[in-house]
Amino acid sequence: MKVFLTVISMLVVSANVHAQPVGTTEVHSRLAQPTGSAATAVALTLDACGGAYDADMISTLIAMRIPATVFVTKKWLDHNPAGTLTLLAYSDLFELEDHGTAHVPAVIGADSSVYGMAGAPDLAHLEAEVSGGAEAIRSLTGHAPQYYRGATAIYDQQSIQAIEALGYSIAGFSVNADDGATLSQEVIVARLRAVRAGDVVIAHMNKPDGATAEAFAIVLPELLARGYRFVKLSQAHLKRIRDPARN
Ligand SMILES: [Zn+2]
Repeated sequence: MKVFLTVISMLVVSANVHAQPVGTTEVHSRLAQPTGSAATAVALTLDACGGAYDADMISTLIAMRIPATVFVTKKWLDHNPAGTLTLLAYSDLFELEDHGTAHVPAVIGADSSVYGMAGAPDLAHLEAEVSGGAEAIRSLTGHAPQYYRGATAIYDQQSIQAIEALGYSIAGFSVNADDGATLSQEVIVARLRAVRAGDVVIAHMNKPDGATAEAFAIVLPELLARGYRFVKLSQAHLKRIRDPARN
């Protein structure tokens, strides 16, 4: 009986860990395309949450001259000086935007959490998470970030208002390429092949053991051959969408 109850409680815990909390939103965005020339634009956004530096991913982009917007945490910058130097050395290709200080999800409350990661206990902690990441970027580049993407890309209503009140646009996405670099190369390739003009692609550059870099090396030449061009978020405007599958 005790074993049975343990199994049941583990199932309950794992279900909670993977459920999006009630009252929260995963923010989705596409590129607003005011002119004909932008009709082939796609934005590549790469998250550097914590962890390591996927040098293969960045080398591929450098070799193909493909720009990307990189959402870095202060934690990632502090732990990856070589990767940071490479991003800064290719500032024509890579712009740094704010992914927070310590990769704390932008949900507020003493018991708040997303996917098992604790949120910000109160508004002041959320603001410190946002500002600490921004300050780390400003001290490296001299530029203040314009976009914020919270850890897990899930927000509550109070955090969305607070982040926007600090002057940031929230960077959603329309194509989740790698689910945190957890997917197989085959699945990532399939998701990337489904990219359309105006998409904002999210992927990760902090897990070199994952299959993300290999999948991008296969599909990026195909996307270029299809006529897409890649833009950084600073060159674009985002529009919020409700459901990526329907837009
Ligand atoms: Zn992240």
